[in-house]
Amino acid sequence: MNNTVLEFKNVWKTYTMGYEMINALAGLNLALKEGSFTAVMGPSGSGKSTFLHVAGILDIPSRGIIKINGKETKKLSAKEQARLRRDEIGFIFQRFNLMSQLTVLENVILPMIKEDSRKAKKILDSLGLNGKYNKLPGQLSGGEQQRVAIARALINDPSIILADEPTGELDTKNADSIMQVLQDLNRKEGVSIVMVTHNPASAEFADEILHMSDGNFLNGSK
Ligand code: ADP
Ligand code: MG
Repeated sequence: MNNTVLEFKNVWKTYTMGYEMINALAGLNLALKEGSFTAVMGPSGSGKSTFLHVAGILDIPSRGIIKINGKETKKLSAKEQARLRRDEIGFIFQRFNLMSQLTVLENVILPMIKEDSRKAKKILDSLGLNGKYNKLPGQLSGGEQQRVAIARALINDPSIILADEPTGELDTKNADSIMQVLQDLNRKEGVSIVMVTHNPASAEFADEILHMSDGNFLNGSK
């Protein structure tokens, strides 16, 4: 039996800009099973990033229910939300978002509550980054930097990876190898993945493709 890792019930996110109201999310419903790999596609401004941000408790919805591993995020204290985010969710961003003044190893250790450089090195090694521990992000290629970001996202053994255009800054070869890494994580480690992408070749790695338009999912998947 697969549990539901991420559930949305009638989720809205409304921004007010002067007199104008923008529904970045307009009544989203979703139930993703443990071990699923979902791609989200859609035009710019359709609400994809907002969807990932509220899914990862980086932002709060205006209305509706979000459950992560059965826990309703709205009912948790700020401290419990932070703990859930840290323990269950790994983020990967388009522009890697590494700390430029910290080494590769330091970047990966950063989200750990208890520093464990052996574990960090093991994850880096598994991503082909042995020998790069003491480099600065600026000394690495884009593909390597994204691998460091993936290592950082994995350091607390999350159940869900949320990725916002993880291949958006990469050339075809690097994009493909990053997608291979994500697919292996999903298939071998059972990590659930939700990935926003503009790249049809990247989306093909997912088991299901959701299409977003005006703050909602259109029917129809892969
Ligand atoms: P996408 O990632 O699909 O390009 P976003 O989730 O970034 O879309 O944005 C969805 C809509 O919400 C857009 O119309 C955007 O302008 C608006 N929006 C996003 N963030 C904010 C914000 N902080 N304040 C006001 N409007 C926002
Ligand atoms: Mg976006």
